[in-house]
Amino acid sequence: MFCFQCEQAAHCTGCTGSAGVCGKSAETANLQDELTGALIGLARAADGSPGVNEGTWSLIIEALFTTLTNVNFDAAAIRDVTARVKAEKSRLVPDCASCMSPCGHNNDYDVSRLWTADEDIRSLKSLILFGIRGMAAYAYHAMVLGYTDGEVNRFFAKALFAIGEDWGMDDLLPLVLEVGEKNYRCMALLDKANTETYGTPEPTTVPLTVEKGPFIVVSGHDLHDLKRLLEQTEGKGINIYTHSETLPAHGYPGLKKYAHLKGNFGTAWQ
Ligand code: SF4
Repeated sequence: MFCFQCEQAAHCTGCTGSAGVCGKSAETANLQDELTGALIGLARAADGSPGVNEGTWSLIIEALFTTLTNVNFDAAAIRDVTARVKAEKSRLVPDCASCMSPCGHNNDYDVSRLWTADEDIRSLKSLILFGIRGMAAYAYHAMVLGYTDGEVNRFFAKALFAIGEDWGMDDLLPLVLEVGEKNYRCMALLDKANTETYGTPEPTTVPLTVEKGPFIVVSGHDLHDLKRLLEQTEGKGINIYTHSETLPAHGYPGLKKYAHLKGNFGTAWQ
């Protein structure tokens, strides 16, 4: 395995061997690489294809989010989404699989080529890849609330396509800057989704003490999952605590109205 997509990477260079610092196994890391390569194949097939639809975009967002740092350690789930990405590519370019003289244009990409590329190219492509993975998390959380943005969606495909190309620094650097621009747009989309769904966040005092009795701790950014958990545990004597990135949830009127959203477990971050 090779993974250096978070600040906890071993020796500040990269996690290798049988598992990463976060506990991610080599199997999971390799499956994430395979899924990333399949996504680049899908982006190649989607380039100029009239068959691209909302299902294509939502699958790209879901799959990219799956490859983010330590979001998903479930090998079966990663294999499942990889199979769906490959199936979507086959839908867009149905004749490729049986072509007698394959040109390779729509092939999946071998991500090990990225990890062993010239260090400047590797750095620029990694910035693009890790940027769109994080962006996919925002886009996914907005999507489950019914909010999407066509410009953001098209950029996911554009960036994936570029990672698979043998481009130089002059072509890749503007794309790195565009990741920042599109990510800003994606954050605005998520903010709109969250505030229109749960109300405008307001200053809120958050207790750090844990009360007696059963409780569940929720980490991450998924306010939709948190809302469903609050609904399912209401009146059952189970308290809910946020942890780490979930802390801002306490500010939203649509979430803080639940009396069993008791407080925050731990400090603000890690
Ligand atoms: S996500 Fe996990 S495996 Fe990857 S660099 Fe971070 S700690 Fe290492």
